[in-house]
Amino acid sequence: MEHIETVKELIACYKKLPGIGTKTAERLAYATLRLSKIDRDAFQAALFDLDSKVKLCPRCGTFFEDRCPICSDPKRNKQLLLVVSDSKDILAIERTNTYNGLYFTLNGNLSPLKNKTAKDIGIDELKKRVETEQIQEVILALPTSLEGETTALYITNILKDLHDVKVSRLAYGIPIGTNLEYLDEMTISQSLKGRVVISGENK
Ligand SMILES: [Zn+2]
Repeated sequence: MEHIETVKELIACYKKLPGIGTKTAERLAYATLRLSKIDRDAFQAALFDLDSKVKLCPRCGTFFEDRCPICSDPKRNKQLLLVVSDSKDILAIERTNTYNGLYFTLNGNLSPLKNKTAKDIGIDELKKRVETEQIQEVILALPTSLEGETTALYITNILKDLHDVKVSRLAYGIPIGTNLEYLDEMTISQSLKGRVVISGENK
């Protein structure tokens, strides 16, 4: 038997989420259908609020409602800039409570296969920000995949020509190919503390 049209649409929506295949999407769609009216209203309201209330900080890539909690925090060290390639990683780093600088989110990593160039992922904006805000240290917290490594190398080269900027990266010990969001706070915290300078140390 085929799903009715409405359920089919809901299944298609759930399948857009990461890690959700057809079977799970079907289960979620029917579970949603069976929710009480109150619960389903709450569901609807939450989805609606995502659109009407949530904004993406153009400076760091964090989601916020009133104002960016990171960029608007006067206690942050404004000379430290940590670069991630996915804004979810900011949350992972914030949870460690060991970093108090600012952030920059790239739009993914460099990838010849996916046709993603330096321009596409926002490296020009990163360079401009490092220059105009007189950033002293750029910490690269990119994935340990080939694409992440390529991006880190590219950024290091671009920033070499700038003022006295130090470029560092998270310490190894993070398993190859792992995204920050899957790591525990202790591991991230340690790799942040033990970060390795890759350029500009003796300037
Ligand atoms: Zn921000």
